[in-house]
Amino acid sequence: MTQKKVLLSGMQPSGALHLGNYEGALRNWVELQNSGKYEMFNCIVDWHALTSGFDETEKLVPRIYEMAADYVAAGLDPGTTAIFVQSHVKEHAELHLLLSMIIPVPWLERVPSYKDKAEQLGLDSYGFLGYPILQTADIIIYRANVVPVGKDQLAHLELAREIVRRFTFLYGEVFPEPEALVTQFPILPGTDGQKMSKSYGNFIALGDEPDVIKRKVMSMFTDETKIHKTDPGHPDDCPVNIYRTIYDSEWTREISDLCAAGDESMGCVKCKKNLIRALIDYFADFRAKRSELLADKALLDSYLADGADRARQRAAETMVLVREAMKMF
Ligand code: ADP
Repeated sequence: MTQKKVLLSGMQPSGALHLGNYEGALRNWVELQNSGKYEMFNCIVDWHALTSGFDETEKLVPRIYEMAADYVAAGLDPGTTAIFVQSHVKEHAELHLLLSMIIPVPWLERVPSYKDKAEQLGLDSYGFLGYPILQTADIIIYRANVVPVGKDQLAHLELAREIVRRFTFLYGEVFPEPEALVTQFPILPGTDGQKMSKSYGNFIALGDEPDVIKRKVMSMFTDETKIHKTDPGHPDDCPVNIYRTIYDSEWTREISDLCAAGDESMGCVKCKKNLIRALIDYFADFRAKRSELLADKALLDSYLADGADRARQRAAETMVLVREAMKMF
């Protein structure tokens, strides 16, 4: 029997997931899981969240529950995918420490986005500089072969591969070089037309209730050059139309054409009402499942404990190999 490749995915627990997180990550994870091709580990990386959230640690636990409920409601099956919290598997920290001894600081300083983020968010901690090492430990502690990433994260994975090569050069082969499973995702816009993001407050969460969806969609930017119904629209750049193409089973190309032509039958308000209906329907089962899970913390705890047990078992095996390779036992 050939062994399945090991796949590691993860996200910081920043609270309820939004449509961008779903289309840019979670939907793909569920498909990868259902392909049956991989042994799946999904890590809720709470230690990483401390790089910027060290002063609001009380928010972490509720956010972890929300994230776990979102994952399961969206189709990650805790029986198939080990869903676990990073800080429940202490081996991540041990490997991080050992790797930190062999990585030159300039490797970390030249990570794209490091300087920008440091300045933009005012971050200057040792942990923030070192987070690519922790991220590498998160991946290789499972001897993962593949990591699903967006194009923007390729540089981070390349650094992880460099770190593996350095470890192999010094101590011998323990880790495979993790490969990127790059899937092309569009960056989805938020209600204000910028990238949808938790930090911009312009998101629609997967679990938003119908009245919230209604309010958010009605406030969405459409096309600032389409002031009157009969002005020609630019549907390919319009957030409302973009989301209809994804979630509205009644959407057809003709709708975009009518909008672009400034046809009277296709105004923005009508379009928004259709998107509201579509989103409410599309996520109805998700919302029900999510609330059920959030009302049963004991069940979520059991999923996370079981996920951590499975993760810990593989991580502990890896650490035996690491200590052996480093002649530290
Ligand atoms: P946020 O910007 O809301 O904090 P994160 O940066 O934590 O989201 O992203 C988590 C995952 O969701 C990443 O894989 C990222 O690529 C994806 N993602 C986030 N926002 C979007 C978006 N607007 N469109 C597509 N994918 C997104």
